[in-house]
Amino acid sequence: MTAPYLGVETVDKLIASRFAPSPTGQLHRGHALSAVMAWRLARRAGGRFLLRIEDIDTTRCRPEHEAAMLDDLAWLGLDWDGPVWRQSQRTAHYAQALDRLVARGVAYPCFCTRADIAAAASAPHGPDGPAYPGSCRHLDPATRAARLAAERPAWRLDVAAAQARTGPLRWHDARAGWQQVTVATGDFVIARRDIGTAYMLAVVVDDAAQGISDVVRGVDLFDASHGQVLLQALLGLPTPRYHHHPLLLGADGRRLAKRDGGETLHALRAAGATPCEIIAGLGLDEG
Ligand code: GLU
Repeated sequence: MTAPYLGVETVDKLIASRFAPSPTGQLHRGHALSAVMAWRLARRAGGRFLLRIEDIDTTRCRPEHEAAMLDDLAWLGLDWDGPVWRQSQRTAHYAQALDRLVARGVAYPCFCTRADIAAAASAPHGPDGPAYPGSCRHLDPATRAARLAAERPAWRLDVAAAQARTGPLRWHDARAGWQQVTVATGDFVIARRDIGTAYMLAVVVDDAAQGISDVVRGVDLFDASHGQVLLQALLGLPTPRYHHHPLLLGADGRRLAKRDGGETLHALRAAGATPCEIIAGLGLDEG
């Protein structure tokens, strides 16, 4: 639910939104839409707008992208409260959360490669690839122990076990209304083998640690919210309100991606666009 703007007497310090880009490329207009929406939601309520750099994927993130992102946001006229958080500095917190999930018996090590998962005939294919068929969920204890001693695993959430613990859960999206938690991806990864954590877990830990009341982001992350709400319940963390906005499309009708050079804020700036023109072109429904 968007906080109404009723004047300074409604100032609510508990409202906090965030923009959480991954520095794997340049910001495009779609990022600007998320950032401006999140910034407005906080500022109109007298709340906080926080910036978090989601740089856990050390194989893809680059410091020069981060610097360019901060520069683009400031150029757009956005300001943020407090220091910028960097997920690369918070890995101990994600490891602790993983330990708690393992201790609760809802996480298990997974030794499958991508090829193993793709080859599993029964795996239905979703937009993000095949749902995990659960191959490592029931490894016998001796095999699991032997493999753990020999190789570093990924860790997955045992969704059925998790849901049995939490019971039915719901969350609210400002456009789509109340949602019952249903995890379509199967047992999703909460710690990658290569980097020791994963987006799904890090985002939940940090949204709670930063006191985020309202998550504003593209509808491409709508499905991820189901798993994130489940993790929040398991870890005893509050569930924020969600605002998933439609994705901006490029001239070719496809969703914008960091690879679409012409749509980056950097390219638009270089071509002479002003911040006002960019914001006016985002299709925000209010001024
Ligand atoms: N870091 C994610 C991205 O850049 C966004 C995460 C989120 O808003 O939850 O796509």
